[in-house]
Amino acid sequence: MFDCLIIGGGVSGVSCALVLGSALEKPFMLDKKIGIITHQKGSMLQDALFNNAYGITPGTLGSDLLLQTTKDLQELYPKIEQIAHEKVVSIVTEADYFLVTTTHTIYESKIVVVAVNSSNPFTIEGCLQPYVIPHRKSLAKKNRIQLANNDHLVFKNAYVAGTLAGHRSQLAIAAGSGAAVATDILTLWNNGIETHAHDSIRKKE
Ligand SMILES: Cc1cc2nc3c(=O)[nH]c(=O)nc-3n(C[C@H](O)[C@H](O)[C@H](O)COP(=O)(O)OP(=O)(O)OC[C@H]3O[C@@H](n4cnc5c(N)ncnc54)[C@H](O)[C@@H]3O)c2cc1C
Repeated sequence: MFDCLIIGGGVSGVSCALVLGSALEKPFMLDKKIGIITHQKGSMLQDALFNNAYGITPGTLGSDLLLQTTKDLQELYPKIEQIAHEKVVSIVTEADYFLVTTTHTIYESKIVVVAVNSSNPFTIEGCLQPYVIPHRKSLAKKNRIQLANNDHLVFKNAYVAGTLAGHRSQLAIAAGSGAAVATDILTLWNNGIETHAHDSIRKKE
């Protein structure tokens, strides 16, 4: 049973995983099992070239970011389980947890973060389908979709991040969205007491 399973290994999904990973040494995190399904074939990053994303060296290819970010995640936070080459086909609620079915197997998780981008159609069957709506910040002719949500929360323990949350398609926005979801989950796990994760050259916060 995962405590949190992130679905999608693009910008918002890996950003969420990095922030959760960076908090793993907090006392309330010690028993937490976190995973990320790093399917990347459908990522918007595959064809992208970045000159305008904060902190990213101009000229960086999105395809290189896909490799580098999962490598960084593995090296920095190996406790976060990366599940590659599997695509999620359904998510259903089961008592107080989710059953996440992939092309290979079924996982159980108490929290899901869906970060699979705003491409139409939304191919994950199950409990999230009723929340699929036209993307509110994209041109209608682009036919993008999002999940209805309140500050990334679709319903209890089901979060959405990135362009699928209704954000415009910019790397920095998607990364911020994934990080925002991570800090909401950290705060939830810290009994509702506001939490974030910073490293510092002076001390760990
Ligand atoms: C050609 C192009 C150029 C761009 N140029 C720029 C730019 O110059 N500057 C800028 O700021 N932004 C740019 N962007 C936008 C930026 O890449 C996106 O905003 C960002 O990638 C969105 O992040 P996301 O997490 O929502 O989606 P993604 O990064 O696309 O991540 C979604 C992930 O979910 C995975 N996935 C999908 N379905 C499933 C499933 N069923 N199961 C498991 N995993 C699944 C995908 O494979 C993918 O890895 C560009 C985009 C494109 C397409």
